[in-house]
Amino acid sequence: MGESSARGITYHPGENGQNRPARPGADARLARLITELQGRGLRVEVPLESRQGGAGPADAGMLWIDGFAATVPTSAQYAHTSPYVLRAEDDGWGIYAGGERLASAQPFGRPRYYDLTTADGIPYWQIALLHLDSLASTVIQTCAYWGNSDQCTFCGIGVTLANGRTIAKKTPEMLAEVAVAARELDGAVDATLTTGTTATPDKGALYVARCAAAVHEASGLPVEVQFEPPRDLGVIDQVADLGVGSVGIHVETFDPQVLARVAPAKARTGIDAYFRAWERAVAAFGAGQVSTYVILGMGEDPGLIVEGCRRAIDIGVYPFVVPLRPTVGSLMEHMTAPPPEYCETIYRQVVPYLAARGLGARGVAAGCARCQACSAMSLLEGSSDADGRTHLPLVSNR
Ligand code: SF4
Repeated sequence: MGESSARGITYHPGENGQNRPARPGADARLARLITELQGRGLRVEVPLESRQGGAGPADAGMLWIDGFAATVPTSAQYAHTSPYVLRAEDDGWGIYAGGERLASAQPFGRPRYYDLTTADGIPYWQIALLHLDSLASTVIQTCAYWGNSDQCTFCGIGVTLANGRTIAKKTPEMLAEVAVAARELDGAVDATLTTGTTATPDKGALYVARCAAAVHEASGLPVEVQFEPPRDLGVIDQVADLGVGSVGIHVETFDPQVLARVAPAKARTGIDAYFRAWERAVAAFGAGQVSTYVILGMGEDPGLIVEGCRRAIDIGVYPFVVPLRPTVGSLMEHMTAPPPEYCETIYRQVVPYLAARGLGARGVAAGCARCQACSAMSLLEGSSDADGRTHLPLVSNR
């Protein structure tokens, strides 16, 4: 397949995934820049391949910055007034602020498998997207909480469905077919499968796990699945038996008052129920293979966040701490991301605790905590290119 052009970005085969350019040694300047971009967003003078909508907090333009993978807000209103801008250059791209060139950049190119369709005419990109080097899909694009008073305020799962960018339910067979193509054509290294919550006792866990089993069997890719705590924790053991590598059970925040405001159904489940589910999952998947999103910037008490993260780490859970990315179309679309300085303060109290217990992104088999491009947490884990993961250097103390 030859060179193609998508929405103004010329794509050269091999630009994405495992064939991405070698990463140079990063420095504190680059680390600070990526932290800033994730907090203040990036203006783009050309459309950027991005994730808009989907389950969870989702606005994310995807690119390589000086060779490092990163996702940064590009669609939210506040990103349109960011001091940082992505500009085309004579030979490539650069990130600028106030006329000063800060770094080279490479927009994430349109994956080649996006040009394929299933035998019954469904475009592969409506089944699963490539997020940098991870194949990602919301296998059931509806949620029992969407559109009623239980809807998570940061979530955009119904947005993508309403605007026709995806289909409501992906089958294991569809996902397996797309995973093989994503691995072979675009170098996908893992798959991240999530689901809207179903009104069944397993909350959708068994269906997303069956999808994962099909993806893993067909493509060999390690897979993370994400779901809510099932009513019967024995479901978690059934998920593990299906060949799933990692699992995400997302509490979103450790501040109970904020949880009640932003995710009422999760609040009714209760934070302690998440801990019980995590304990069962760690027993089934191993320490470090269980993660939870922890979203910063929703009005939380930072002390509760750090305390909750450490309690989770104590039982072998990786708290994936991310800044809020208000999704256009979500109930939080009017909000902004939290200041980078605030996020860094939390990372600094969580990451050393992780490291002291032998946990880190390097040990995660698949999914968001493996990729790390949506958080600056790995800035504090030190840099390493040896394993092909996205690790960034220590940020100097302010
Ligand atoms: S549980 Fe909340 S975050 Fe997950 S899909 Fe439903 S509304 Fe979105």
